[in-house]
Amino acid sequence: MEKKIFIKTLGCQMNEYDSNRIYDSVKRLGFEKTKDQENLDCYVLNTCHIRDKAKEKVYHEIGRVKELYKEKNKPIIVVAGCVAQAENQEMLKREPYIDIVIGPQSYHKINDKLLNFIKGNKIEETEFDAVSKFNYFDNIKNKENKISSYLTIQEGCDKFCTFCVVPYTRGPEYSRPFNKIISETESLIKSGAKEIILLGQNVNAYSYKEKSKVYRISDLINKLESYSELKRIRFTTSHPRDMTDDLIECYSTSKKLMPFVHLPIQSGSNKILKLMNRKHTVEKYIEIYEKLIKINPEIKFSSDFLISYPGETNDDFTETLSLVKKIKFINSFSFIFSPRPGTKAANLDQIDKEISQERLLKIQEYLFKFQLNLNESFINKTIDVLIENELEGQNKLFGRNQYMNSVIFEGNKNLIGKNINIKIERVNQKSLFGKVEKNNMRAA
Ligand code: SF4
Repeated sequence: MEKKIFIKTLGCQMNEYDSNRIYDSVKRLGFEKTKDQENLDCYVLNTCHIRDKAKEKVYHEIGRVKELYKEKNKPIIVVAGCVAQAENQEMLKREPYIDIVIGPQSYHKINDKLLNFIKGNKIEETEFDAVSKFNYFDNIKNKENKISSYLTIQEGCDKFCTFCVVPYTRGPEYSRPFNKIISETESLIKSGAKEIILLGQNVNAYSYKEKSKVYRISDLINKLESYSELKRIRFTTSHPRDMTDDLIECYSTSKKLMPFVHLPIQSGSNKILKLMNRKHTVEKYIEIYEKLIKINPEIKFSSDFLISYPGETNDDFTETLSLVKKIKFINSFSFIFSPRPGTKAANLDQIDKEISQERLLKIQEYLFKFQLNLNESFINKTIDVLIENELEGQNKLFGRNQYMNSVIFEGNKNLIGKNINIKIERVNQKSLFGKVEKNNMRAA
C-alpha cells in the first residue's frame, strides 16, 4: 500500500534541494509526497541551525505534530538537517517521539534507516560522508525539479568564521565531480528546468580535479551556457575570497548569468571582519564590486550583515553603514549577532540589546530604502520575467526578474516556463505587479 510522507523544510536553498532528493530516495520504498500533514506515515523535519533558537524551534514543531496525532497512530518522525547533526543522540533522549535523527551528509542512508526503524530500532546517523551521499544520489533521478531548479555542486566549509556552525554541521568542503553535475543539469533540463541555481555553502570555492584539469565554478557556468533550453544561471552562496577573476569574467562572457550577486560581507569594518575570521577585507570586497560594475553597470549586489558582533563599536557600525550606502545593496539579510553553541564566538560578551536593536533598524532603513528605490525604478518599464508557476488560489502567475524580485500578474498558465515581457504598474518593497505586454508572444 502507498505510504504518505511530508517534509517540512526550514532554512536555506540547500535544505530545499536536500528535501527534494530525500523525496526522490524514499519513493523507492513506496513513499508518496503529500501536503496533508494529518494523515502521514512519515514526517520529516529538515532543520536549519543558522537562526536564533534553532534547537527550541525544532522541539516546538515536533510538539505540534505530536498534538496532531494525539488520537491516532503516529507517523515515523525523522529530524534531518543541521540541528540533527549538531544535537545527534541528544534529540532521541530529550524527545522520545522522534524516531530517526539524520545529518545532512548521511541522506544516502535514509532508506536503510527507515527500513531499520520499521524493524524496531531508533536511529541516529550523523557521519560526514559527502562522497557516498552524492554517489548514491547520482544514481537516482532528480525528479522534484521546477522551472527554476536548485543543483548542489559543493557542500561544507573550511573557513571557520567564528560565529558560524556550518563547518561543524555540514563538514569540510567537498566538490562534486564535474561530469556528475553536468548529467544532473541535463536531466533537470529534460524535465523542464529553464533556470539553474548552483548551490553550495561556499559555492564559488568549487574545485574538482580530474587528471591534470582543475574544474572551477566558471567552467560549470561556461558549460551551462551552451544548453539552448536553459535561459538563466545563478549561484549562491559565495565567499569574497573565492571571487576569482575567472568567475568575474563570466559576467562578461555569459549571456545567461544573471546580473545579481549575493556576496555576504557581514561587516563593513576590517577590525570586525578580522575578529570574525572572515579572511577578507572591506577593500577586497569593494575591489570585486568595482570590477563587476565595470563589466556591467546593471549588476546589483545583495549581502548578509551580522550586526553587533562582540566588539563592534559605533564607529565600526558606521563603517558598515557607509558601505551599505556606497554599494546600495538590495535583497539583503541583516541580523543581530546571537551566539551559536560550539562556535568560537559562543562565549563572547554580547552588546547591549537596545543598542543592537537600534543598529539593526538603522541598517534596515537603508537596505529597505534601496530595495524600494530599485523596485520603483521599474514602474512603467517593461522587464523580462521568467514565469515559474501559478500562485495557489489566486489565479495569478508568478515569476522573477533578473534580480530575483517576485513579479505577479494575470496571465494564461501556458506561459509557465517562458520568458515574458511584463509591464510593471505598481510595486512594494518585496514585489512588482504588472501585466503581460501585448507584443509578448514574440519574446516567448
Ligand atoms: S564562510 Fe560562510 S559557511 Fe563558512 S564558516 Fe563562514 S559564514 Fe559559515
